[in-house]
Amino acid sequence: MLALQEALLHGNAVQQRRAMAKAITLLESTRTDHRAQGDELLTALLPHTGKALRLGISGVPGVGKSTFIETLGLFLIAQGHRVAVLAIDPSSSVSGGSILGDKTRMEQLSVQERAYIRPSPSSGTLGGVAEKTREAMLVCEAAGYDIVIIETVGVGQSETAVANMTDMFVLLQLPNAGDDLQAIKKGVMELADLVVINKADIDKNAATRAEAQITSSLRLLGQHGNPDHAHHNEALWHPKVVQISALLGQGVDGFWAAVAEFQRLQTANGRLATRREKQALSWMWERIDAGLKQAFRQHPQVQGLLPSTLADVAAGRLAPSTAARNLLLANTR
Ligand code: GDP
Repeated sequence: MLALQEALLHGNAVQQRRAMAKAITLLESTRTDHRAQGDELLTALLPHTGKALRLGISGVPGVGKSTFIETLGLFLIAQGHRVAVLAIDPSSSVSGGSILGDKTRMEQLSVQERAYIRPSPSSGTLGGVAEKTREAMLVCEAAGYDIVIIETVGVGQSETAVANMTDMFVLLQLPNAGDDLQAIKKGVMELADLVVINKADIDKNAATRAEAQITSSLRLLGQHGNPDHAHHNEALWHPKVVQISALLGQGVDGFWAAVAEFQRLQTANGRLATRREKQALSWMWERIDAGLKQAFRQHPQVQGLLPSTLADVAAGRLAPSTAARNLLLANTR
């Protein structure tokens, strides 16, 4: 364990990469003895974490996420950064398939020594997958990656999960997004710290229209939505919209300037620290909820009662609330 920790923190590039893969595999293991070792490792690594910028990136399949992350990653590496890319793919836990289709993606970035790309954990609930990704993020930070990108697709609850583990949540949109703002899930728009209109090279006019429309709807949301996005206050960040072409590498510098400004403001006004504190506590409670539920399901008394109770509730013979009380009582015996 000490050797693993040593290699991770202080090894050369090759040793570090091997140690990261080993550490993440250990943390993803469901074996109890592995979990204990993993927790020990995390505790040892924790003082070395937290220094990266944590960037969440989401958007529907085809919007250009992997093209953008590759372009951005290469841009950042050229500036001397080290970039880790992690993913949360909800489809892989439900269907066994993968929307993000990690294998053939980001070919140029993946061969860079200063880049580390890891596909989504592939099993378990969204909560479980999110926990593994959070832990992998800590491993990357301990190894000295100063930019951690967490990618997800615009389906299901995975966007909320990613927004809840990153400093900044970026939503990618197509140039025609403004034509049908209804199509953008309102809840997701509220999560966005920055909206990026990709493929602006295809239709500059549409992209500019989308930029104006999304900007005004973000302003509306700011007035009664996310308190982090309150307006008319110089000290606070106002969500922005930028246009890019990930394919042609246009607008990436403008995007990065917006990220830097966000980071500067959020650090100065204390929101970055509060956001991380909240995230850490809600991560803990979320895991307690999950742990309690799992222990509940494994309790012998509960297991004994469960089949007949489920049948009774399904058939309308027993009120769901009464059933829940009976089972919770059985859990204490
Ligand atoms: P993802 O599913 O969100 O990861 O999307 P991809 O990055 O795989 O991109 C989907 C398709 O859009 C690919 O054929 C890309 O080459 C193309 N694409 C991505 N970004 C741009 C862009 O800025 N302009 C144009 N014209 N095409 C793009």
